[in-house]
Amino acid sequence: MSESLEIKDLHVKVEGKEILKGLNIKIKQGEIHAIMGPNGSGKSTLANTLMGHPIYDVERGQILLNKEDVLQYKANERAKKGLFLAFQYPTAVPGVTMFNFLRTAYNAVKVNGHAKDKKQELTSVLQFSKLLNEKLKMLKMDESFVKRYVNDGFSGGEKKRSEILQMALLEPKFAVLDETDSGLDVDALRIVSEGINKLSGPNLGVLIITHYQRILRYIKPDHVHVMIDGKIVKSGGHDLAEKLEEEGYDWIIKEIKNE
Ligand code: ADP
Ligand code: MG
Repeated sequence: MSESLEIKDLHVKVEGKEILKGLNIKIKQGEIHAIMGPNGSGKSTLANTLMGHPIYDVERGQILLNKEDVLQYKANERAKKGLFLAFQYPTAVPGVTMFNFLRTAYNAVKVNGHAKDKKQELTSVLQFSKLLNEKLKMLKMDESFVKRYVNDGFSGGEKKRSEILQMALLEPKFAVLDETDSGLDVDALRIVSEGINKLSGPNLGVLIITHYQRILRYIKPDHVHVMIDGKIVKSGGHDLAEKLEEEGYDWIIKEIKNE
């Protein structure tokens, strides 16, 4: 049976200011949803709240992962339950290789977490190495990548590749990707898109959060939602994304004001 991620009436304050003002959205495994919206509408606040970042105060509402409210859990517990957020890992970790970082994450999140029912054992270095090489091959990544230190001198595109590689290994039930508006180049955009398209399937629900319509040229979401001022104000299919690409957000803002 397919599981769901449902956000109900979510109200979130950041530093005393209400940013999310009653947000609702429901995603099922196998579906790709996109949330789009102008800068400052609260998109990153939503992504960070989903992963349990402590500075985001949930005042009201629920985040239900297969009907269980995950607001009671910390970030690592949510990851164990199958929620993945493409972290931006701003700091480099010199001395820790990608290989060791990924193996630790895999054992913590996957083996001890949401794959427990499959009776997986902690992986040996050799087993993990084999698995990792399969994923690298699938994503057309060079084996030398995992010998590098975490984020140490990674380009924007390499950071994105690293996120997609984590996602391929952890096989989350739901992935939330916040394409922070800090100007992903076309190359990085293509990497992320190809990765998501490869990994998407009946067991993965995807929520792409973006300011840019252009990523939706590479990924075709089943549902597109427009977020303005902390709420979803309009939902539709891919045609909505196309209209936004052509006309921007102004017409929606006018529509809301006239209601
Ligand atoms: P978006 O991702 O849609 O551009 P954000 O969620 O980043 O929007 O920001 C929405 C609002 O919340 C902005 O007014 C921003 O200043 C505020 N905000 C977000 N995160 C923080 C933070 N860590 N500290 C203070 N204000 C924040
Ligand atoms: Mg943002």
